[in-house]
Parts: sequence; structure tokens; C-alpha cells
Amino acid sequence: MEISEKKVALFHYTLRNKNGDILDTSDGQAPLGYIHGIGNIIPGLEKALQGKKKGDKVKVIIEPSEAYGQRNDSLMEVVPLSNFGDQSQVKVGIQFQVDGPQGLRIATVAKLESENVTIDFNHPLAGVTLDFDVEITDVRDASPEELQHGHVHGDGGHHH
Ligand code: ZN
Repeated sequence: MEISEKKVALFHYTLRNKNGDILDTSDGQAPLGYIHGIGNIIPGLEKALQGKKKGDKVKVIIEPSEAYGQRNDSLMEVVPLSNFGDQSQVKVGIQFQVDGPQGLRIATVAKLESENVTIDFNHPLAGVTLDFDVEITDVRDASPEELQHGHVHGDGGHHH
């Protein structure tokens, strides 16, 4: 079975940046599952996996425009350090989740001054060219329930 619209694909992956540093990997974990064609994963990876089968290995370089987009400097915000409950935890580079009108966003502390913290709301992978090594471990039909929920159930997906 080939990966096409509304199929569930499971895959192992290793993600590197241009320098070859590993940013993320499924190594040692369950493969990741997604429903093809509905935007579960970034567009560049979805395109690269189209038509692939169980056992196929795919190597693909994805530009930011097909991944997490370019960095946007207007997504930097300066807030008072006193906004943070435990100020000793606030350090440059730490990431935390913020629940807002656009849903859950990842925020990174970009700069720390005496009274102020600069928060970067860009996705941590914005502006980054991604180098993916993928191995397809399974391709199957999506169940009606999975299509309704818009995500994979069971192995590699949601358990509920
Ligand atoms: Zn569900």
C-alpha cells in the first residue's frame, strides 16, 4: 500500500539541521503516525512521503517555507521579569508553553535584563532548513473515527 490521501503512515525519523546536528529523533521511541493529506505534518515532509511504501527510506532537505516558516521579528515581546512566578528559572534559551488565542505556542527566552525578559514566540524551528531521514514502518487505511478526529489512534498516535 502506498502513502496517499487519508492513509495512515507510521515512520521513524531523524531530524538534523544544516550542520548535521540532531534536533529530534524517534530513535528509541515508537514510530510517529500521521494521516496523509490533512496537514498533520509539515508540507515538505508530506510531499516527500507521498507514494512511499512500508520499508522505504527517504532522505529529504526541507526549506523553511515548506516547514515552520521564516522567522518573524514582530513575534518578539518584552515583558517584566515580575510576570514570572519563579524568576530563578528564567534563563536565556529555556522554552515554555503559552496558552493564548492562537492555541498553545512555544516561547523561548531570548534575552534577560535586570527587570525585563525578551520572549521569542517564533517556532523554535522557524527559519531552519530541515534535513530528514525517514523510514516508513507501516501504511494502512485510516479508520472513520481517525478521519473524524483528524489524528492517528493507537500505535504512534493518540490513546483515548
Ligand atoms: Zn482521537
